[in-house]
Amino acid sequence: MTDKKVWRETLHENFGQYFAIDNVLYHEKTEHQDLVIFENAAFGRVMALDGVVQTTERDEFIYHEMMTHVPLLAHGQAKQVLIIGGGDGAMLREVTRHKNVESITMVEIDAGVVSFCRQYLPNHNAGSYDDPRFRLVIDDGVNFVTQTTQKFDVIISDCTDPIGPGESLFTSAFYEGCKRCLNPGGIFVAQNGVCFLQQDEAIDSHRKLGHYFADVSFYQAAIPTYFGGIMTFAWATDNPALRHPGTEIIQARFQKAGITCRYYNPAIHTAAFALPQYLQDALACQSS
Ligand code: SAM
Repeated sequence: MTDKKVWRETLHENFGQYFAIDNVLYHEKTEHQDLVIFENAAFGRVMALDGVVQTTERDEFIYHEMMTHVPLLAHGQAKQVLIIGGGDGAMLREVTRHKNVESITMVEIDAGVVSFCRQYLPNHNAGSYDDPRFRLVIDDGVNFVTQTTQKFDVIISDCTDPIGPGESLFTSAFYEGCKRCLNPGGIFVAQNGVCFLQQDEAIDSHRKLGHYFADVSFYQAAIPTYFGGIMTFAWATDNPALRHPGTEIIQARFQKAGITCRYYNPAIHTAAFALPQYLQDALACQSS
């Protein structure tokens, strides 16, 4: 155990993870959340909101590559992209790598997260905030999707856990709003927690999304600092074929996009939709 000061995650009551703190770069209550950014020898700069790890410099690429390239390459011709949340800027960074995307709208509730991550996590946005296709809206995501007249091909809900301001992004109102502003053939994805520890979140999202979309499932990846195993990403479309386009088609699109990744590749894309039996059984129970 280190003799350094430590930051302890408070997401789970009876167990959790800690990070030795080398240096606190920022710690304030924004208008909406308690925001801390600190340096840790193992994971680089770490950002947490309301006691929950949101992102670290060392492993953020896994999450952001999987939340972006899976829906965009499955869609194949996305032009309008909506990011809900995403204040650290890394989801935007990955979306801007797709040159055929024409507009990227990001709806973030907390202007403080955007400004402090721009300053203290510059590698996350990597200059993507200056992309001419980008538009930032400071609002609650559920307000935006229920009121906008814009239509999108891919919606990425890069939200916090369903506590505090993030709670509204796990409601039927939000999912209904996303459905109404998706173009035909559109894809909705959302971070949906670590299913071994937060299985109820996945079951709840699956049930709610099932009211609005014909094909609802999950895909997964293990992100080390999302403690406790694989993270599930909610997947919702009206076209079941989008879930399994075939690795060859994904490979061709990936090659054409000219993107190189550190975690994502077409084989991982296909394999990510294979889910553990305990989750499949739990979802089957919920649907019966
Ligand atoms: N990768 C993280 C995860 O999986 O937990 C999420 C990272 S990102 C920092 C989460 C963002 O969602 C934060 O910037 C937070 O301010 C934003 N957020 C939370 N609730 C929101 C809401 N209702 N509308 C829009 N943005 C929201």
